[in-house]
Amino acid sequence: MMASIDCGDRAGQPARGEDVLFDLREFRLPDGRELLLYGHAPHVGEARDSLPPAPASGGAHLRWHPLRREWVAYAGARQGRTFLPSAASCPLCPAAEGRLGEIPFDRFEIAVFENRFPAFTASAVPPAEISGVETAPAQGRCEVVVFSDDHHAGLGTLCEDRLALLLEVWGARVRALGETYPYIFPFENRGEEIGVTLHHPHGQIYAFPFIPAQVRRAAEAQAEALVIERLLRDAGNFVIEEAEAAVALVPPFAVYPYETWIVPRRRVAGPQALDDAERQAMAGLLGRAVRRLDGLFGTPMPYILTVQCAPKGFEATFHMTIDIRPFRRDAGKLKYLAGVEQGTGVFLADVLPEDAAARLRAVPTVEAP
Ligand SMILES: [Zn+2]
Repeated sequence: MMASIDCGDRAGQPARGEDVLFDLREFRLPDGRELLLYGHAPHVGEARDSLPPAPASGGAHLRWHPLRREWVAYAGARQGRTFLPSAASCPLCPAAEGRLGEIPFDRFEIAVFENRFPAFTASAVPPAEISGVETAPAQGRCEVVVFSDDHHAGLGTLCEDRLALLLEVWGARVRALGETYPYIFPFENRGEEIGVTLHHPHGQIYAFPFIPAQVRRAAEAQAEALVIERLLRDAGNFVIEEAEAAVALVPPFAVYPYETWIVPRRRVAGPQALDDAERQAMAGLLGRAVRRLDGLFGTPMPYILTVQCAPKGFEATFHMTIDIRPFRRDAGKLKYLAGVEQGTGVFLADVLPEDAAARLRAVPTVEAP
C-alpha cells in the first residue's frame, strides 16, 4: 500500500506569476518524485494508490566525445522502461480501480512528472574515473508532460484551449527549470516508427547541465544575424498558414520533407515570454499543422516536435520556434538518416520546401473540436 502525500499548500490555488492563467496542483509521489497537475480548472480529487517506487537511477553520467566535441549521456536504467503496453495497462492513463498508473488520479488536464527512467537527475554523482575519457555527472532533470487523460488524443485532436494551456505549461517549466539549468528542451516523439514506447499523448522536457553544441551553434547564428525575422519577412510561398501573431511555414532550408515551423512574429526567447494572443495563435496553428501532416498521406504522421528555446545567455537575441520534423516522405516511405546524414551531417532532401508548403496548404484541415 503506497500512501501518497499532497504536498501543495497551493493546491487548488491559481499559480502566481505574470500573465499566468492556469491552475497548478503540486503533488509528491511516494518515491519523492514531483507530479504537477495543470488545468484551466482547479484539480480536485483524492489520490489513488501509485505505482511502486521507481528503480534507483544511479549510474547516469556523461562522457566527452573528443571528435564530435560534445557530451554523450549514458543512462543504463532506461533499458528497463515500459515498452508499448496495451491501452488497458497504459501508465499514463488516469489511475482506476485495479490499475496503477504514473498519475494516481481519476482525471486531469495536463500532468507533468519526473521521469522514472531519467537520463539526467538532480542527484547525479560524479562517475568513477574511466581512463582515456573525460566524464561528468549527468546532473539535470527529465520530465514527462502528459497532454491529456484521453489515451487516444493527440496534438491534432486536442482543442485549441488545451494546446494554449500546453504552451503555458512549457513556458512555466522552461522558466522554473531555467533557474537551475542552462538549457531547457521540451519535445515530443510521436509514432512507433521513430521509437515511441508509449502511445498515450505525451512529450518530455530535458533540463540539460550544458548547452548542446548544435543548440549553441543555432543560438550564435541568431546572435549574429536576425535569421528568424528575415525568414518571416521573406516567407512568401513557404508560408503554410498565417495568423496575426504567428506563422506556420516550411523553412526554405528544411532538412526534413514537410518540415513545419510555428513561429511567433515577435522575437521571444521561449514559450515563457509569449502573450495570450501569441499563445492562442500558435495553439491554433500547431493543431492545424499536425492535422495537415496527418492528412497529407491519410495516416498519422510520425514526427519529432521540438520547442527551440534560448539557451542561457542568448535570451536577448533568440527567436523561439516550434519545429516539427516529419518522418514520412511519401505514402509508405519513411525518411531515414542514412550514410551521408549520419557520416557527414549533411542532409539529403527529397522534397523541395516550396513544394512541401504548397502541398501542406492544400490539405483540408477540420477545425479543432
Ligand atoms: Zn493511456
